[in-house]
Amino acid sequence: MNIHEYQAKELFRHYKVPVPAGSVAFTVEEAVVAARELGVYPVVIKAQVHAGGRGKAGGVRLVNSESEVLQAAEEILGRTIVTKQTGPVGKKVGKVLIEQGQNIARELYLSILPDRASAQIMIIASLAGGMDIEDVAASMPEKIIKAMVNPLIGLQPFHQRQLLFGLDLDKTIARDFSSLLTRLYQLFTEKDCTMLEINPLVITGENQLVALDAKIDIDSSALYRHQDIVDWRDEAEEDPLEVEAARAGLNYINLDGNIGNMVNGAGLAMATMDLIKKAGAEPANFLDVGGGANAEMVAEGFRIILSDPKVKGILINIFGGILRCDVLAEGVVQAARKSGVTVPVVIRMEGTNVEKGRRMLADSGLNLITAVDLADAAVKIAEIAKS
Ligand code: GDP
Ligand code: MN
Repeated sequence: MNIHEYQAKELFRHYKVPVPAGSVAFTVEEAVVAARELGVYPVVIKAQVHAGGRGKAGGVRLVNSESEVLQAAEEILGRTIVTKQTGPVGKKVGKVLIEQGQNIARELYLSILPDRASAQIMIIASLAGGMDIEDVAASMPEKIIKAMVNPLIGLQPFHQRQLLFGLDLDKTIARDFSSLLTRLYQLFTEKDCTMLEINPLVITGENQLVALDAKIDIDSSALYRHQDIVDWRDEAEEDPLEVEAARAGLNYINLDGNIGNMVNGAGLAMATMDLIKKAGAEPANFLDVGGGANAEMVAEGFRIILSDPKVKGILINIFGGILRCDVLAEGVVQAARKSGVTVPVVIRMEGTNVEKGRRMLADSGLNLITAVDLADAAVKIAEIAKS
């Protein structure tokens, strides 16, 4: 689960990681009050959306007076911001962070994330802060320092030194940097983060380390032990269809293609998506209705796929095991009757009660295309995609 910068900075404060003074504002009036409370200019106004790259998109403003705060807040709040990470649709800004402007001497990069290949916690640091780390990795790989931490042993002094020397930090700041790392590592593990990124981590003109930006992802499977973080969920930042699907207990991810697909079992869903691609089409979603789905869940899944305007055809691929074919058929017929099917639907199913399921579909009067097997289903859906 993603959280906002202002929420990540709240966690930083709790762990005594230095961040600029500031507070979040939901309206222009609140923004002005927040700036007044800071009392000194410059003040920074930052759009709060679940995406980076806001600076380049005009979502971060440095201002020098109350009238400029007013003007910037009016311009940013309510507007849609488009960055590399939001995709072309962009994200609507519903809140801004009002912060004390910092006097920046150096910009560094620091992040912590699990490295699956080595099963260790990887700390990445770079001298080239403020830039996209992907660009730094591509053009100046020598500027990236990595420290690998064995999670069973934890962060050690040698890791600290490795990063300290790699960043060419002044002795006077060594102690602050070490304690910053210790606290961030503690936050990362205690809060079950899957990503923690500070870009830029700045050294101010007064030789202080300050986290100017903050991005945190929390492992969704660990949310049961972080109710405080669950309360921060901002559904407005999430894909609306994915939010609906999660409520219905469905495993759904929205993708870019135009062939909707409904499958039971994550492995079969992955294989089905491969088949769709192999046949020359692109999947519009991943949807695993799960082994124990009932007719209502199938109907809900079908409705969600149908409400995606990208979808030009649907492939239903079910192996009837725990989810019986007749239950699937009932769900499909229910949903099709209710929402009206506007696109061709290819169905391939096998397994428990398959004859009964096929009969129900045939008797439904709906225009459904039945495939004899998986290969046939792929060919039929590809024809639809091409037409
Ligand atoms: P991002 O573009 O979404 O990653 O947003 P950031 O929080 O990283 O801000 C973008 C850029 O704005 C930073 O890299 C800084 O160069 C600049 N910036 C942010 N806060 C301040 C500040 O307090 N003072 C100054 N001078 N620049 C700032
Ligand atoms: Mn940033």
